[in-house]
Amino acid sequence: MGETQEDGESARPRTDRIDRSVAQSQLFTSAGVLILAVMASFVSPSAFYDPFFVAGIGLVAVVTVLALQVRWASLPSRWVVVLPLLDIIALAGMREGAPILQVGLFLTFPVIWMSRHFGLWGAVSSVSMSTALIWVTTFVRGDAVEASGIPSLVLLPLALSFIATTTFVTVRRTNGQRNLLRQQATIIEAALDSARRQERLLDGVLNAVTFGVLSFDRPGSITMMNDSLRESLREFGGAEGDYKHAVVYQEDRITPHAQNTRPLARAFAGQEFENMVIWIGDLGSKRAALSVTARRFSAPDGTADGGVVVMRDVTAELEAIKARDDLVASVSHELRTPLTSTLGYLELVLDDDELDEGTRSMVDVALRNSKRLLTIVNDVLRAASDADTQLPMTITDCDIAGIIDEAVNDLRDVASRRGITIAANLPVTAITLADPLRIRQVIDNLMTNAIKYNRPDGTIEVLMTVDDRHIAVSVTDTGLGISDEEAAKLFERFYRTESAKQSSALGAGLGLNITKDIMVRHGGDLRLESTQGVGSTFTITLPSMGSGSAVTTVAGVGSATVTTTTTTTTTTTTAG
Ligand code: ADP
Repeated sequence: MGETQEDGESARPRTDRIDRSVAQSQLFTSAGVLILAVMASFVSPSAFYDPFFVAGIGLVAVVTVLALQVRWASLPSRWVVVLPLLDIIALAGMREGAPILQVGLFLTFPVIWMSRHFGLWGAVSSVSMSTALIWVTTFVRGDAVEASGIPSLVLLPLALSFIATTTFVTVRRTNGQRNLLRQQATIIEAALDSARRQERLLDGVLNAVTFGVLSFDRPGSITMMNDSLRESLREFGGAEGDYKHAVVYQEDRITPHAQNTRPLARAFAGQEFENMVIWIGDLGSKRAALSVTARRFSAPDGTADGGVVVMRDVTAELEAIKARDDLVASVSHELRTPLTSTLGYLELVLDDDELDEGTRSMVDVALRNSKRLLTIVNDVLRAASDADTQLPMTITDCDIAGIIDEAVNDLRDVASRRGITIAANLPVTAITLADPLRIRQVIDNLMTNAIKYNRPDGTIEVLMTVDDRHIAVSVTDTGLGISDEEAAKLFERFYRTESAKQSSALGAGLGLNITKDIMVRHGGDLRLESTQGVGSTFTITLPSMGSGSAVTTVAGVGSATVTTTTTTTTTTTTAG
């Protein structure tokens, strides 16, 4: 199989490395032998007449030529062993030829070479061969071994064994560490690869989505910005096309944000927020509304460590809501004029003393419904107009218990027509500061809903409790109930639950929004507890004397306390 060009290129440095390593290893021995030859010419010129010495030098020269000329990388790796083995033979011969030169020490070069490259086998064979040759050449010569020469016959092999063992162990340890490093490098490479893949995936996803995403690691240092956000900034980011130069307006579209209240400044300051609506783009030019959400990241020690900001383009949504509100406002406005006129004429008709009872009762119904219609139209008009428009309120001392009792009594007939029973448990009086008309509107809305969305022959329970902080009135029905998901949106303008839309009960989805508004403006609240299919409890709370936000007095008593009697009136109306 032919190797690819790439393989060929990566293989070339490897073969060069092998050839270079063989040459280097041999050159140590060659250099040693050269030094020995020079030394011999001074110290022991007679050595050059010794065949062992001369043959040794010649052999080393041949080995050196072989080491430099042969392409060892292209041969089986074991073949290299020939070179140090020949060196050992040559050096052992030279040692015998010129004992004075201590040639034996130079055996360390081939021993190290073999121990390094051929492991245990190389170490054992190089030491064994050196020892054997030292001894053999000594005894082959047949010269008497001098006593002083005996230690060298033992010590030299021992020293070579020590060097071979140390080299072998060191090389093995180094190889082990190298392998470990290689494995770790492979693991790190794989982890890096997977991180890169994740990053590419994240990049792809973030650039495919239609909302803007930006992340930062410390204030002002943005680490990532997706294409969608870049696109918006190009369009609205001011002359420089970046976020710092974008003109940012508040939700009202006209008030510019101060530098420190702009969403990015808040996010950089470590704040978290959700759906903050801003407008970008200059007044009079093309503009976009963004809903901005910021989340911060925490370092392991809990300190802020950058964060992420998501910006969703809500221009179309806000424009649609505005268009709906404009339409509703203009339609309601158009309805109000003829309706007011109809009411006037109906009242004139009722002023006629000669009207017979039957007609009077019918005109009365028409008048009542027209009034109700006018209230709805007014509410729709108010709800559809600027969100900041507040309901007109006239706060005065009023008896909440009395208002509720009256409302309950007025609705008895309507409830009984559907077979619904109303049970009311109220104190005789509960006087506090409030707008009596608005409180009546609130209780009417809760009661009408409890009737409208109740099952036929259901029940309604009205319960009022008073303590030194709050007056609470709850209206509990046995009707459709409301799911948690729906409950979250229930107080939004125009919201109606699916079951209510499918029922025959009419409505505009404004009553609860207005009710909540009225209660909040009284310093109170409106809460809901409901189980779908079982029923709902709407509870309004008003501050009483103890809370300090509303002073309650009882006319004629002159003390600033909530007055409630312990006696309660319980009225029950059943379908008649
Ligand atoms: P409307 O009754 O005119 O539609 P509201 O603002 O009073 O408007 O109520 C909003 C929606 O809340 C209703 O349409 C209905 O879906 C739901 N709702 C209100 N009161 C009840 C109730 N007692 N039981 C079940 N659903 C209710």
